[in-house]
Amino acid sequence: MSKSWSDLERHSIREAIDLWHRIGGEEFISRTRFKESNRYVVVDRGQIISSKPLLAMAFQLQFGCDQDGPPRLSGGDQTRAILNKRGYELVDTYGETSQPTEVPLVTIDVQSDTNLWWVNQSTNFALVYADGTLWAAAKGRNGQQVAHWQNLEKVRPGDLVIHYSRPEIRAVSRVATMPTSSYPPDGYGDVAADTPGILVLTSPLHARRVPRESALQFLDNGVGPLTNEGGLRNGYLFPLNRDNALEIFHLMDANTAFEDLPPVDLGISLEAGQLGPTDNYAITRVRAEQRFLRRQQLRRWGGLCALCGQKLPDELLVAAHIKPRWACSDEERMDIVNISMLTCMFGCDALFELGYVVVSDNGTIECGSKPSHLIRDRLTPVVGRPCQAHTRESREYFSWHRKHHLANRES
Ligand SMILES: [Zn+2]
Repeated sequence: MSKSWSDLERHSIREAIDLWHRIGGEEFISRTRFKESNRYVVVDRGQIISSKPLLAMAFQLQFGCDQDGPPRLSGGDQTRAILNKRGYELVDTYGETSQPTEVPLVTIDVQSDTNLWWVNQSTNFALVYADGTLWAAAKGRNGQQVAHWQNLEKVRPGDLVIHYSRPEIRAVSRVATMPTSSYPPDGYGDVAADTPGILVLTSPLHARRVPRESALQFLDNGVGPLTNEGGLRNGYLFPLNRDNALEIFHLMDANTAFEDLPPVDLGISLEAGQLGPTDNYAITRVRAEQRFLRRQQLRRWGGLCALCGQKLPDELLVAAHIKPRWACSDEERMDIVNISMLTCMFGCDALFELGYVVVSDNGTIECGSKPSHLIRDRLTPVVGRPCQAHTRESREYFSWHRKHHLANRES
């Protein structure tokens, strides 16, 4: 009897995802009769996986190849329904950056010390633009320095980045953080997950498509992203001449303003505690980090609070560091995915951060050392539950948190 999509089991999707990691996307897709689509994808361990080939492969794995291939898949909605029902999230990479019919007029502040950059991005554009990430490996495959990657180390908060993804310019974003060491975030999965690299977080500013030909006429040959012959260079990140960039902003229907704001303090770390209330860039930076961590965690865990386990709207969940950044080694700081978790704004974030609850070595949520009689009603739904974010990779971070708060018991 012929099988239908409703017979597909969750574990088959998991096996298909593992196969994708083992053999790579190209080989994977060639073994199905679907084409690669970059619109509807599943994100797993930083890889962007085309959803239709994924389902087709899962089907083949579960029912073997004696079937007449998998049944038809009508479109995004059906694909989403099949995946959601089995606990996987379908990401519409067009969703968050699509053009509204009326693009509001934006004004882009360009200060005297603002540097301008051009980034060439692949099919990962939509995902990483919305996440607000620019990432490049620290070294080439053979350990060599790669200049267009190393440019990322020169990027500073406040700089502006023009995003190009074939065949056109897509958007502008504002740099929000200093470059930091990091393993690849979601969307950069064509390298191993433990590849050391440089991460810069950005804030999406303005999405507006401009055809390549219109933009290139305003760029100087042999400068920045252009070759001497006037073609686009292969490579990642290039400095842009300021006047060239301003022309492109106008093509994107953006106004420009040139009023200098107070200087940016480049010494600031990623900790939120050190902000002055009027520090524009500091707020941008904290928001960018929160958006980035939250989106990474949401894709990983779905919209669940890691402590109380409630499924909640995204905006009621915050990404919290398990071990605070100030206490992390350089290596731990690079572990952006495992160092944080999602907690809800109904108190779980505070219970954990202040040490009212800790997570034991086997992943069970326990009372911390603080007096708990006044908040017993708050603790009851949480204590004794398994903490969803407790994994082999995050166990040491929870252990640090537990010891830190228990050590402070007597003080
Ligand atoms: Zn909660």
